[in-house]
Amino acid sequence: MLKKIVILVCDGLGDRPIKNLGALTPLEAAKTPNLDALAKEAECGMMYTLGRCQVPGSDVAHLAIMGYSQHEYYSGRGTIEVAGIGINLRPGDVALRGNFGTVDDNQLIIDRRAGRIRVVEQLTQSLDGLEIDGVKFVVKPGTGHRAGIVMRGEGLSNAIIDADPHKPGIPIRNVTPTNNSPKAQRTAQVLNKFLEKSHEILKKHPLNEIRKKEGKYPANYLLVRGAGFYKKVPSFEERYNLSSCCIAGGGLYKGVGSFLGMKVIKVPEATGLPDTNIKAKFQSVLTCIDKYDFVFVHVKAADSLGEDGNFEGKKNFIEKLDSASKLLLNLPDDVLLIITADHSTPCELKSHSADAVPILYRGNGVRTDDVMAFNERACKKGGLGIIEGKHVIPHAQNLLGTLKLVGA
Ligand code: ZN
Repeated sequence: MLKKIVILVCDGLGDRPIKNLGALTPLEAAKTPNLDALAKEAECGMMYTLGRCQVPGSDVAHLAIMGYSQHEYYSGRGTIEVAGIGINLRPGDVALRGNFGTVDDNQLIIDRRAGRIRVVEQLTQSLDGLEIDGVKFVVKPGTGHRAGIVMRGEGLSNAIIDADPHKPGIPIRNVTPTNNSPKAQRTAQVLNKFLEKSHEILKKHPLNEIRKKEGKYPANYLLVRGAGFYKKVPSFEERYNLSSCCIAGGGLYKGVGSFLGMKVIKVPEATGLPDTNIKAKFQSVLTCIDKYDFVFVHVKAADSLGEDGNFEGKKNFIEKLDSASKLLLNLPDDVLLIITADHSTPCELKSHSADAVPILYRGNGVRTDDVMAFNERACKKGGLGIIEGKHVIPHAQNLLGTLKLVGA
């Protein structure tokens, strides 16, 4: 009898046929004996994460897969990023994500990531706790050049534009409200004052003095975006009665785990980059599934390589993923394994697309079909047919026998 669930989400795994790969997708072209062995023992199909013709962002895609509709629970990426940093939001809070960047004296953006500064803790410390017009700013370091920012005070709203224009060579943006409400206007006003004040502090910060002497870009401006506000979210455990944990390298995915109340497991070699140690992550899955009922494991790099248009790199990374997946053949008998992606990232587009992604469910007593490989072409013929992200966990609950009876 199945009791536990492991879900592996391979970010941006889906793709489209590529001429240089013999009109195959990277997943079809890659040699994947282990993933194929899992597919042979599984019920396979395709999934539209948010529904047909919807291009999913990674944040809402993951929430959909976990059964949390973006309409009900999502208010902006900032809320998920700050959850990943370990800030607990309170009612009324507005959360933003930020980059430490470099601007010149005319506030033109020179570099959005301040030469990819690695450690920003000293900088966030100098801004953390600032108070402006009754609004307290909580500022904590994220990974690399990133930071999480929370505005805490009365009368705030997330109806504001991004201060980050996303391109170098142009001036930073003044934050403006996106509606006429007094809350949005106040939020924009207070945030602008904060950004100005933090620029003054950062300009003179000793760390930036050192960086300038070393010929590096000073991290003298906090570029903020993705405003979201607090919403009450039932934890994954409350929702499904399954204790849960999350194994991920990238900040956003740890954020998804924290946002849903999952225990975030540290795997030092998990980087979220192509050099990540997938075997170490899957080893950790084998350990964690003893302790938890549900393990969410995320692998990032297929998406980044797709966004670079690097189809050879994506194919090679999939082969690396496959080699580590041998470990997943050894899951205990009571574990249901789900493998899927949050969306496709076709190398030709260099961005996310609405193309469906393959999905498999493998475990004792799960129906099997004639699918002999894990890829877009093969899984399309699977017994599961075409599902949506919101069906992923309920289908697993069905297999565990925990779905509620409809009627009598
Ligand atoms: Zn993604």
